[in-house]
Amino acid sequence: MKYVGAHVSVEGGVSKAPLNARAIGAEAFALFTRNPSRWKSKEISDKEAEAFKKNCEECGYTPAQILPHDSYLINLGQADAAKLAQSREAFLDEFRRCEQLGLTMLNFHPGSHLNLIAADDCLDLIAESINMTLDNTTGVKAVIENTAGQGTNLGFTFHHLARIIDKVHDKSRVGVCIDTCHAFAAGYDLATPEGYEAAWKEFDDTVGMQYLSAMHINDSKKGLGSRVDRHESLGKGAIGHTLFTMLMQDQRMEGIPLILETPDWDIWAEEIAWMYSQVKA
Ligand SMILES: [Zn+2]
Ligand SMILES: [Zn+2]
Repeated sequence: MKYVGAHVSVEGGVSKAPLNARAIGAEAFALFTRNPSRWKSKEISDKEAEAFKKNCEECGYTPAQILPHDSYLINLGQADAAKLAQSREAFLDEFRRCEQLGLTMLNFHPGSHLNLIAADDCLDLIAESINMTLDNTTGVKAVIENTAGQGTNLGFTFHHLARIIDKVHDKSRVGVCIDTCHAFAAGYDLATPEGYEAAWKEFDDTVGMQYLSAMHINDSKKGLGSRVDRHESLGKGAIGHTLFTMLMQDQRMEGIPLILETPDWDIWAEEIAWMYSQVKA
């Protein structure tokens, strides 16, 4: 079973997310459990957490279909000690919120070196941040997202992801989310059948297919290798429809959240329905 969905709104509280997902025919959803552009965020009340769990159950969503995304401010590879501490504190809070909501994954961007330290040192710092967080939490997997490689963001090559995972102590609690727009912008040509197979072979050889825990399903406004992160609606960008058809017919993407982060929310229901129409196309 493919779990296709979208990153839905939590306006009015996290308990609204499963209802918003149900309304667009989603079999999976992503959400922010705190304000993604603020350091401080109000705690989730026990009542709200219970309502979230009840709505998930009633709408038929298990934790395997839910992929919370962390705050954009967090940089786990920050070289400045005070700022790193702030990021680690916020990251731990993100994990605690997932625990409170009964969720089993947290999706995050690895981090940026900001020209303060070498890329490898930054990747090692990110792994250390993950280890510290895993040591203080239970039951939630750290799901590292590949990036487009914009600015000083790391995680745009599969080697970056492999280096982080290599240094994480508990391999059972680390995974990867591959964003199709980011991979394409980083130079992996997912648009053609040959490029698609080559990219997954490289992923399996460097990271390992067993770490694939989720995907973000986006077309790209910018070209192959542009290193620019601009999502586009499916089939309307530089990638085109072929990739998304291949994904829906690929057994390796069974049972993991496949989350749309495409810019036109009004057509999410249509995009989800189109994805499902490709299973036997
Ligand atoms: Zn993404
Ligand atoms: Zn993006």
